[in-house]
Amino acid sequence: YQLPNFRPTKAVIDLAAIKYNIEQLRKHLHSNIDIIAVVKANAYGHGDIQVANAALQAGASMLAVATPEEALHLREFIKNTPILILGASPVSFAPYAAQYNITLTVFSVDWLSEVAKQAKNFEKPLKLHIKIDSGMGRIGVRKQTELIALYNAIVANKRLIIDGIFTHFASADEENPKQFKEQLATFKALVASLPEKPRFVHAANTAASLIKDDVQFDAVRFGIAMYGLVPSPYVEKHLPFILKPALSLESELVHVKKIERGDTVSYGGNYVAVEEEWIGTMPIGYADGLVRGLAGQEVLIQGNRVPIVGRICMDQCMVKLPYNMVVGEKVILIGQQHQEMIKIEEWSERLHTIVYEIPCMLTSRITRIYK
Ligand code: PLP
Repeated sequence: YQLPNFRPTKAVIDLAAIKYNIEQLRKHLHSNIDIIAVVKANAYGHGDIQVANAALQAGASMLAVATPEEALHLREFIKNTPILILGASPVSFAPYAAQYNITLTVFSVDWLSEVAKQAKNFEKPLKLHIKIDSGMGRIGVRKQTELIALYNAIVANKRLIIDGIFTHFASADEENPKQFKEQLATFKALVASLPEKPRFVHAANTAASLIKDDVQFDAVRFGIAMYGLVPSPYVEKHLPFILKPALSLESELVHVKKIERGDTVSYGGNYVAVEEEWIGTMPIGYADGLVRGLAGQEVLIQGNRVPIVGRICMDQCMVKLPYNMVVGEKVILIGQQHQEMIKIEEWSERLHTIVYEIPCMLTSRITRIYK
């Protein structure tokens, strides 16, 4: 039994946009390249199960997450599709991974030897992707000796399967190609040193899969652009196709009042009306992810850009209206209304961060609605 959604603040997720973005990628890729839909962090805040299903319908063939909990949640709803955990899973999760057909990332010799010790008790063989640290400096092996040690230990164990090998680029979205090229060369050399190529060699994230040549290998890991967002201004300039943003954020005015010159709004009283003003209150605040750094950000009402005034409260905030409006008037915080559009980039620039962070910071209090 699910309670109805009383509060009018909601994120509307356009699954057709997600499908469109994947279909465009499919056309852009060489044939036979698998698409791994990156749905970690609750699909970058968009909703893991709904996005995963849309991505699979549009042609993705594997799902990637960051943690065991995320993988198990997906597996409850999606039975046969491969699910890869990109992060370092605890050794204690390995038997569950084998049982639920969840693929783990092998990132160190020590981790593998601990897993190998338990493998004889696994009900089913455990699929593994080897992670190469080609320059990101995060998880993964760097040396050929380590890689060959991993390879041999996996091959020697009947309950372990090498299903893939991958790396992650630190600066595929930047103009200077130096680090990208070095990482790619390192990765290729290490893969070539294996006695046999694993089934899935993969390296490209969104940026690499959209704007770089020669990095598609067997599969690409498609995250941010699946949601219609562009990883960086440099990638924006070189996009091979238009992306459709999937998320809009909506609320309504719950109270409208006239204030007089000199009256103040919100905590601290540091917004002071310079004339008679119409102020609208919206039921969204920093506990929803509308962080206080967004004070001054505009929203859309009746196609007008209207500023948030005063400090953002935990659950509410106020906007300065151009004229009197009715309670229930729709407010768009992210998305399009009439001819106006507020893109996620506008928020990320104001907060001096990247677009990735914005949908991830919308908390679970915001209901996600799918269309
Ligand atoms: N692969 C790995 C290992 C990642 O950590 C991420 C995201 O951070 C991705 C792929 C997806 O990257 P993007 O969202 O830029 O496509």
